[in-house]
Amino acid sequence: MNADKRAEIFRRLRDANPAPTTELEYDSPFELLVAVVLSAQATDVGVNKATRKLFPVANTPEAILELGEDGLKRYIKTIGLFNSKAANIIKTCRKLIEEHNSEVPRDRESLEALPGVGRKTANVILNTAFGEPTIAVDTHIFRVANRSKIAPGKTPLEVEKKLLKVVPAEFRKDAHHWLILHGRYVCKARKPDCPVCPIRDLCEFKDKTPAA
Ligand code: SF4
Repeated sequence: MNADKRAEIFRRLRDANPAPTTELEYDSPFELLVAVVLSAQATDVGVNKATRKLFPVANTPEAILELGEDGLKRYIKTIGLFNSKAANIIKTCRKLIEEHNSEVPRDRESLEALPGVGRKTANVILNTAFGEPTIAVDTHIFRVANRSKIAPGKTPLEVEKKLLKVVPAEFRKDAHHWLILHGRYVCKARKPDCPVCPIRDLCEFKDKTPAA
């Protein structure tokens, strides 16, 4: 795919949604961190349902530690993998208090050293809480980048590196959310909605869904 096409794709995605953001509900970097850790293999809707009850009671590392692991589990037990997520969140709270003055760190290395936080989660925090131009490649972005040929790659890391190289600077900070939302609602896994896709004339996917 050439640079002009890519720029036009992001122009159209921006026109349709000038200020995209995450669908996870949060009011602080710490709340976002907890929500993103909970969202692994779970839906944003399910996470929001749990955090709407959890955050009014505990939305700081100290308050969650006070709840304790079992207390935390009571709020998140509707979310998949809640046992290991609760253990990781408790360990993360301890580390934030001991090593980061109870704040969420703003650098990749410190974020990835937190239990339950991998490269993707660190990218989401850096981008969404701190406005850094990082791109967290999840299943949606991986699919859209490969199908459309915006940034094809065999692994999420390969796609991330390619996107960082080819997405024009003016779109880099928001590219992550535009591509996720596009993958979630239009370029869906089983059957992409190509007939109504705003970038169908630019997308290079060979097996586009035909119009009904
Ligand atoms: S045209 Fe189809 S395959 Fe291409 S980005 Fe749009 S929905 Fe996805």
